[in-house]
Amino acid sequence: MKLSEAILLGSTILAPKPGVQFVAEKQEGCALGMAAIANGCTYGPPQDPEKGESRRTIGTAGVWGEWVKKQVARPCSCWFFVPRKMQIQEIIAHIFDRHIAGEKKDWTIDELAKWVESVEPQMPKIEAIDGGVRITVPEGCRLTQIEIGIPGILGHEQTDGGQGPIPSGLSSEEKV
Ligand SMILES: [Zn+2]
Repeated sequence: MKLSEAILLGSTILAPKPGVQFVAEKQEGCALGMAAIANGCTYGPPQDPEKGESRRTIGTAGVWGEWVKKQVARPCSCWFFVPRKMQIQEIIAHIFDRHIAGEKKDWTIDELAKWVESVEPQMPKIEAIDGGVRITVPEGCRLTQIEIGIPGILGHEQTDGGQGPIPSGLSSEEKV
């Protein structure tokens, strides 16, 4: 599950609670706690944060990957006393604490999930198309799209030559 999806799913499980990931007795927590619970994680006794990690976001990279520690521009318009660039996980905590469950209330959990989706690693998209399957992988990869036809079964013609059929949409330079 992607973090953005887990935040939305978890928001239907936990009651919103700013400033803390998860309160077991009350089933409350922040967006990071909501996502972790939706992902099937459990919370143990308090631990010391690792280097580059704060107590507020502890364990998040271990669940979702190191990308949550990437520094990006903060998407809100808070004043200068909040750094312009922050770790993604710190931004999620900040948006939740101040803008969703905190005093500002100018963001919704859906808007936060949308923002997370814009910064999280995208999964390859697999879809059925006429005569085969299309797999689209995120930008930045050498191969961005491949279509695999199934000759003779789903409408693709067999070619006549001595060679085997070349699936439609797969040019020779794209062949792996
Ligand atoms: Zn803010």
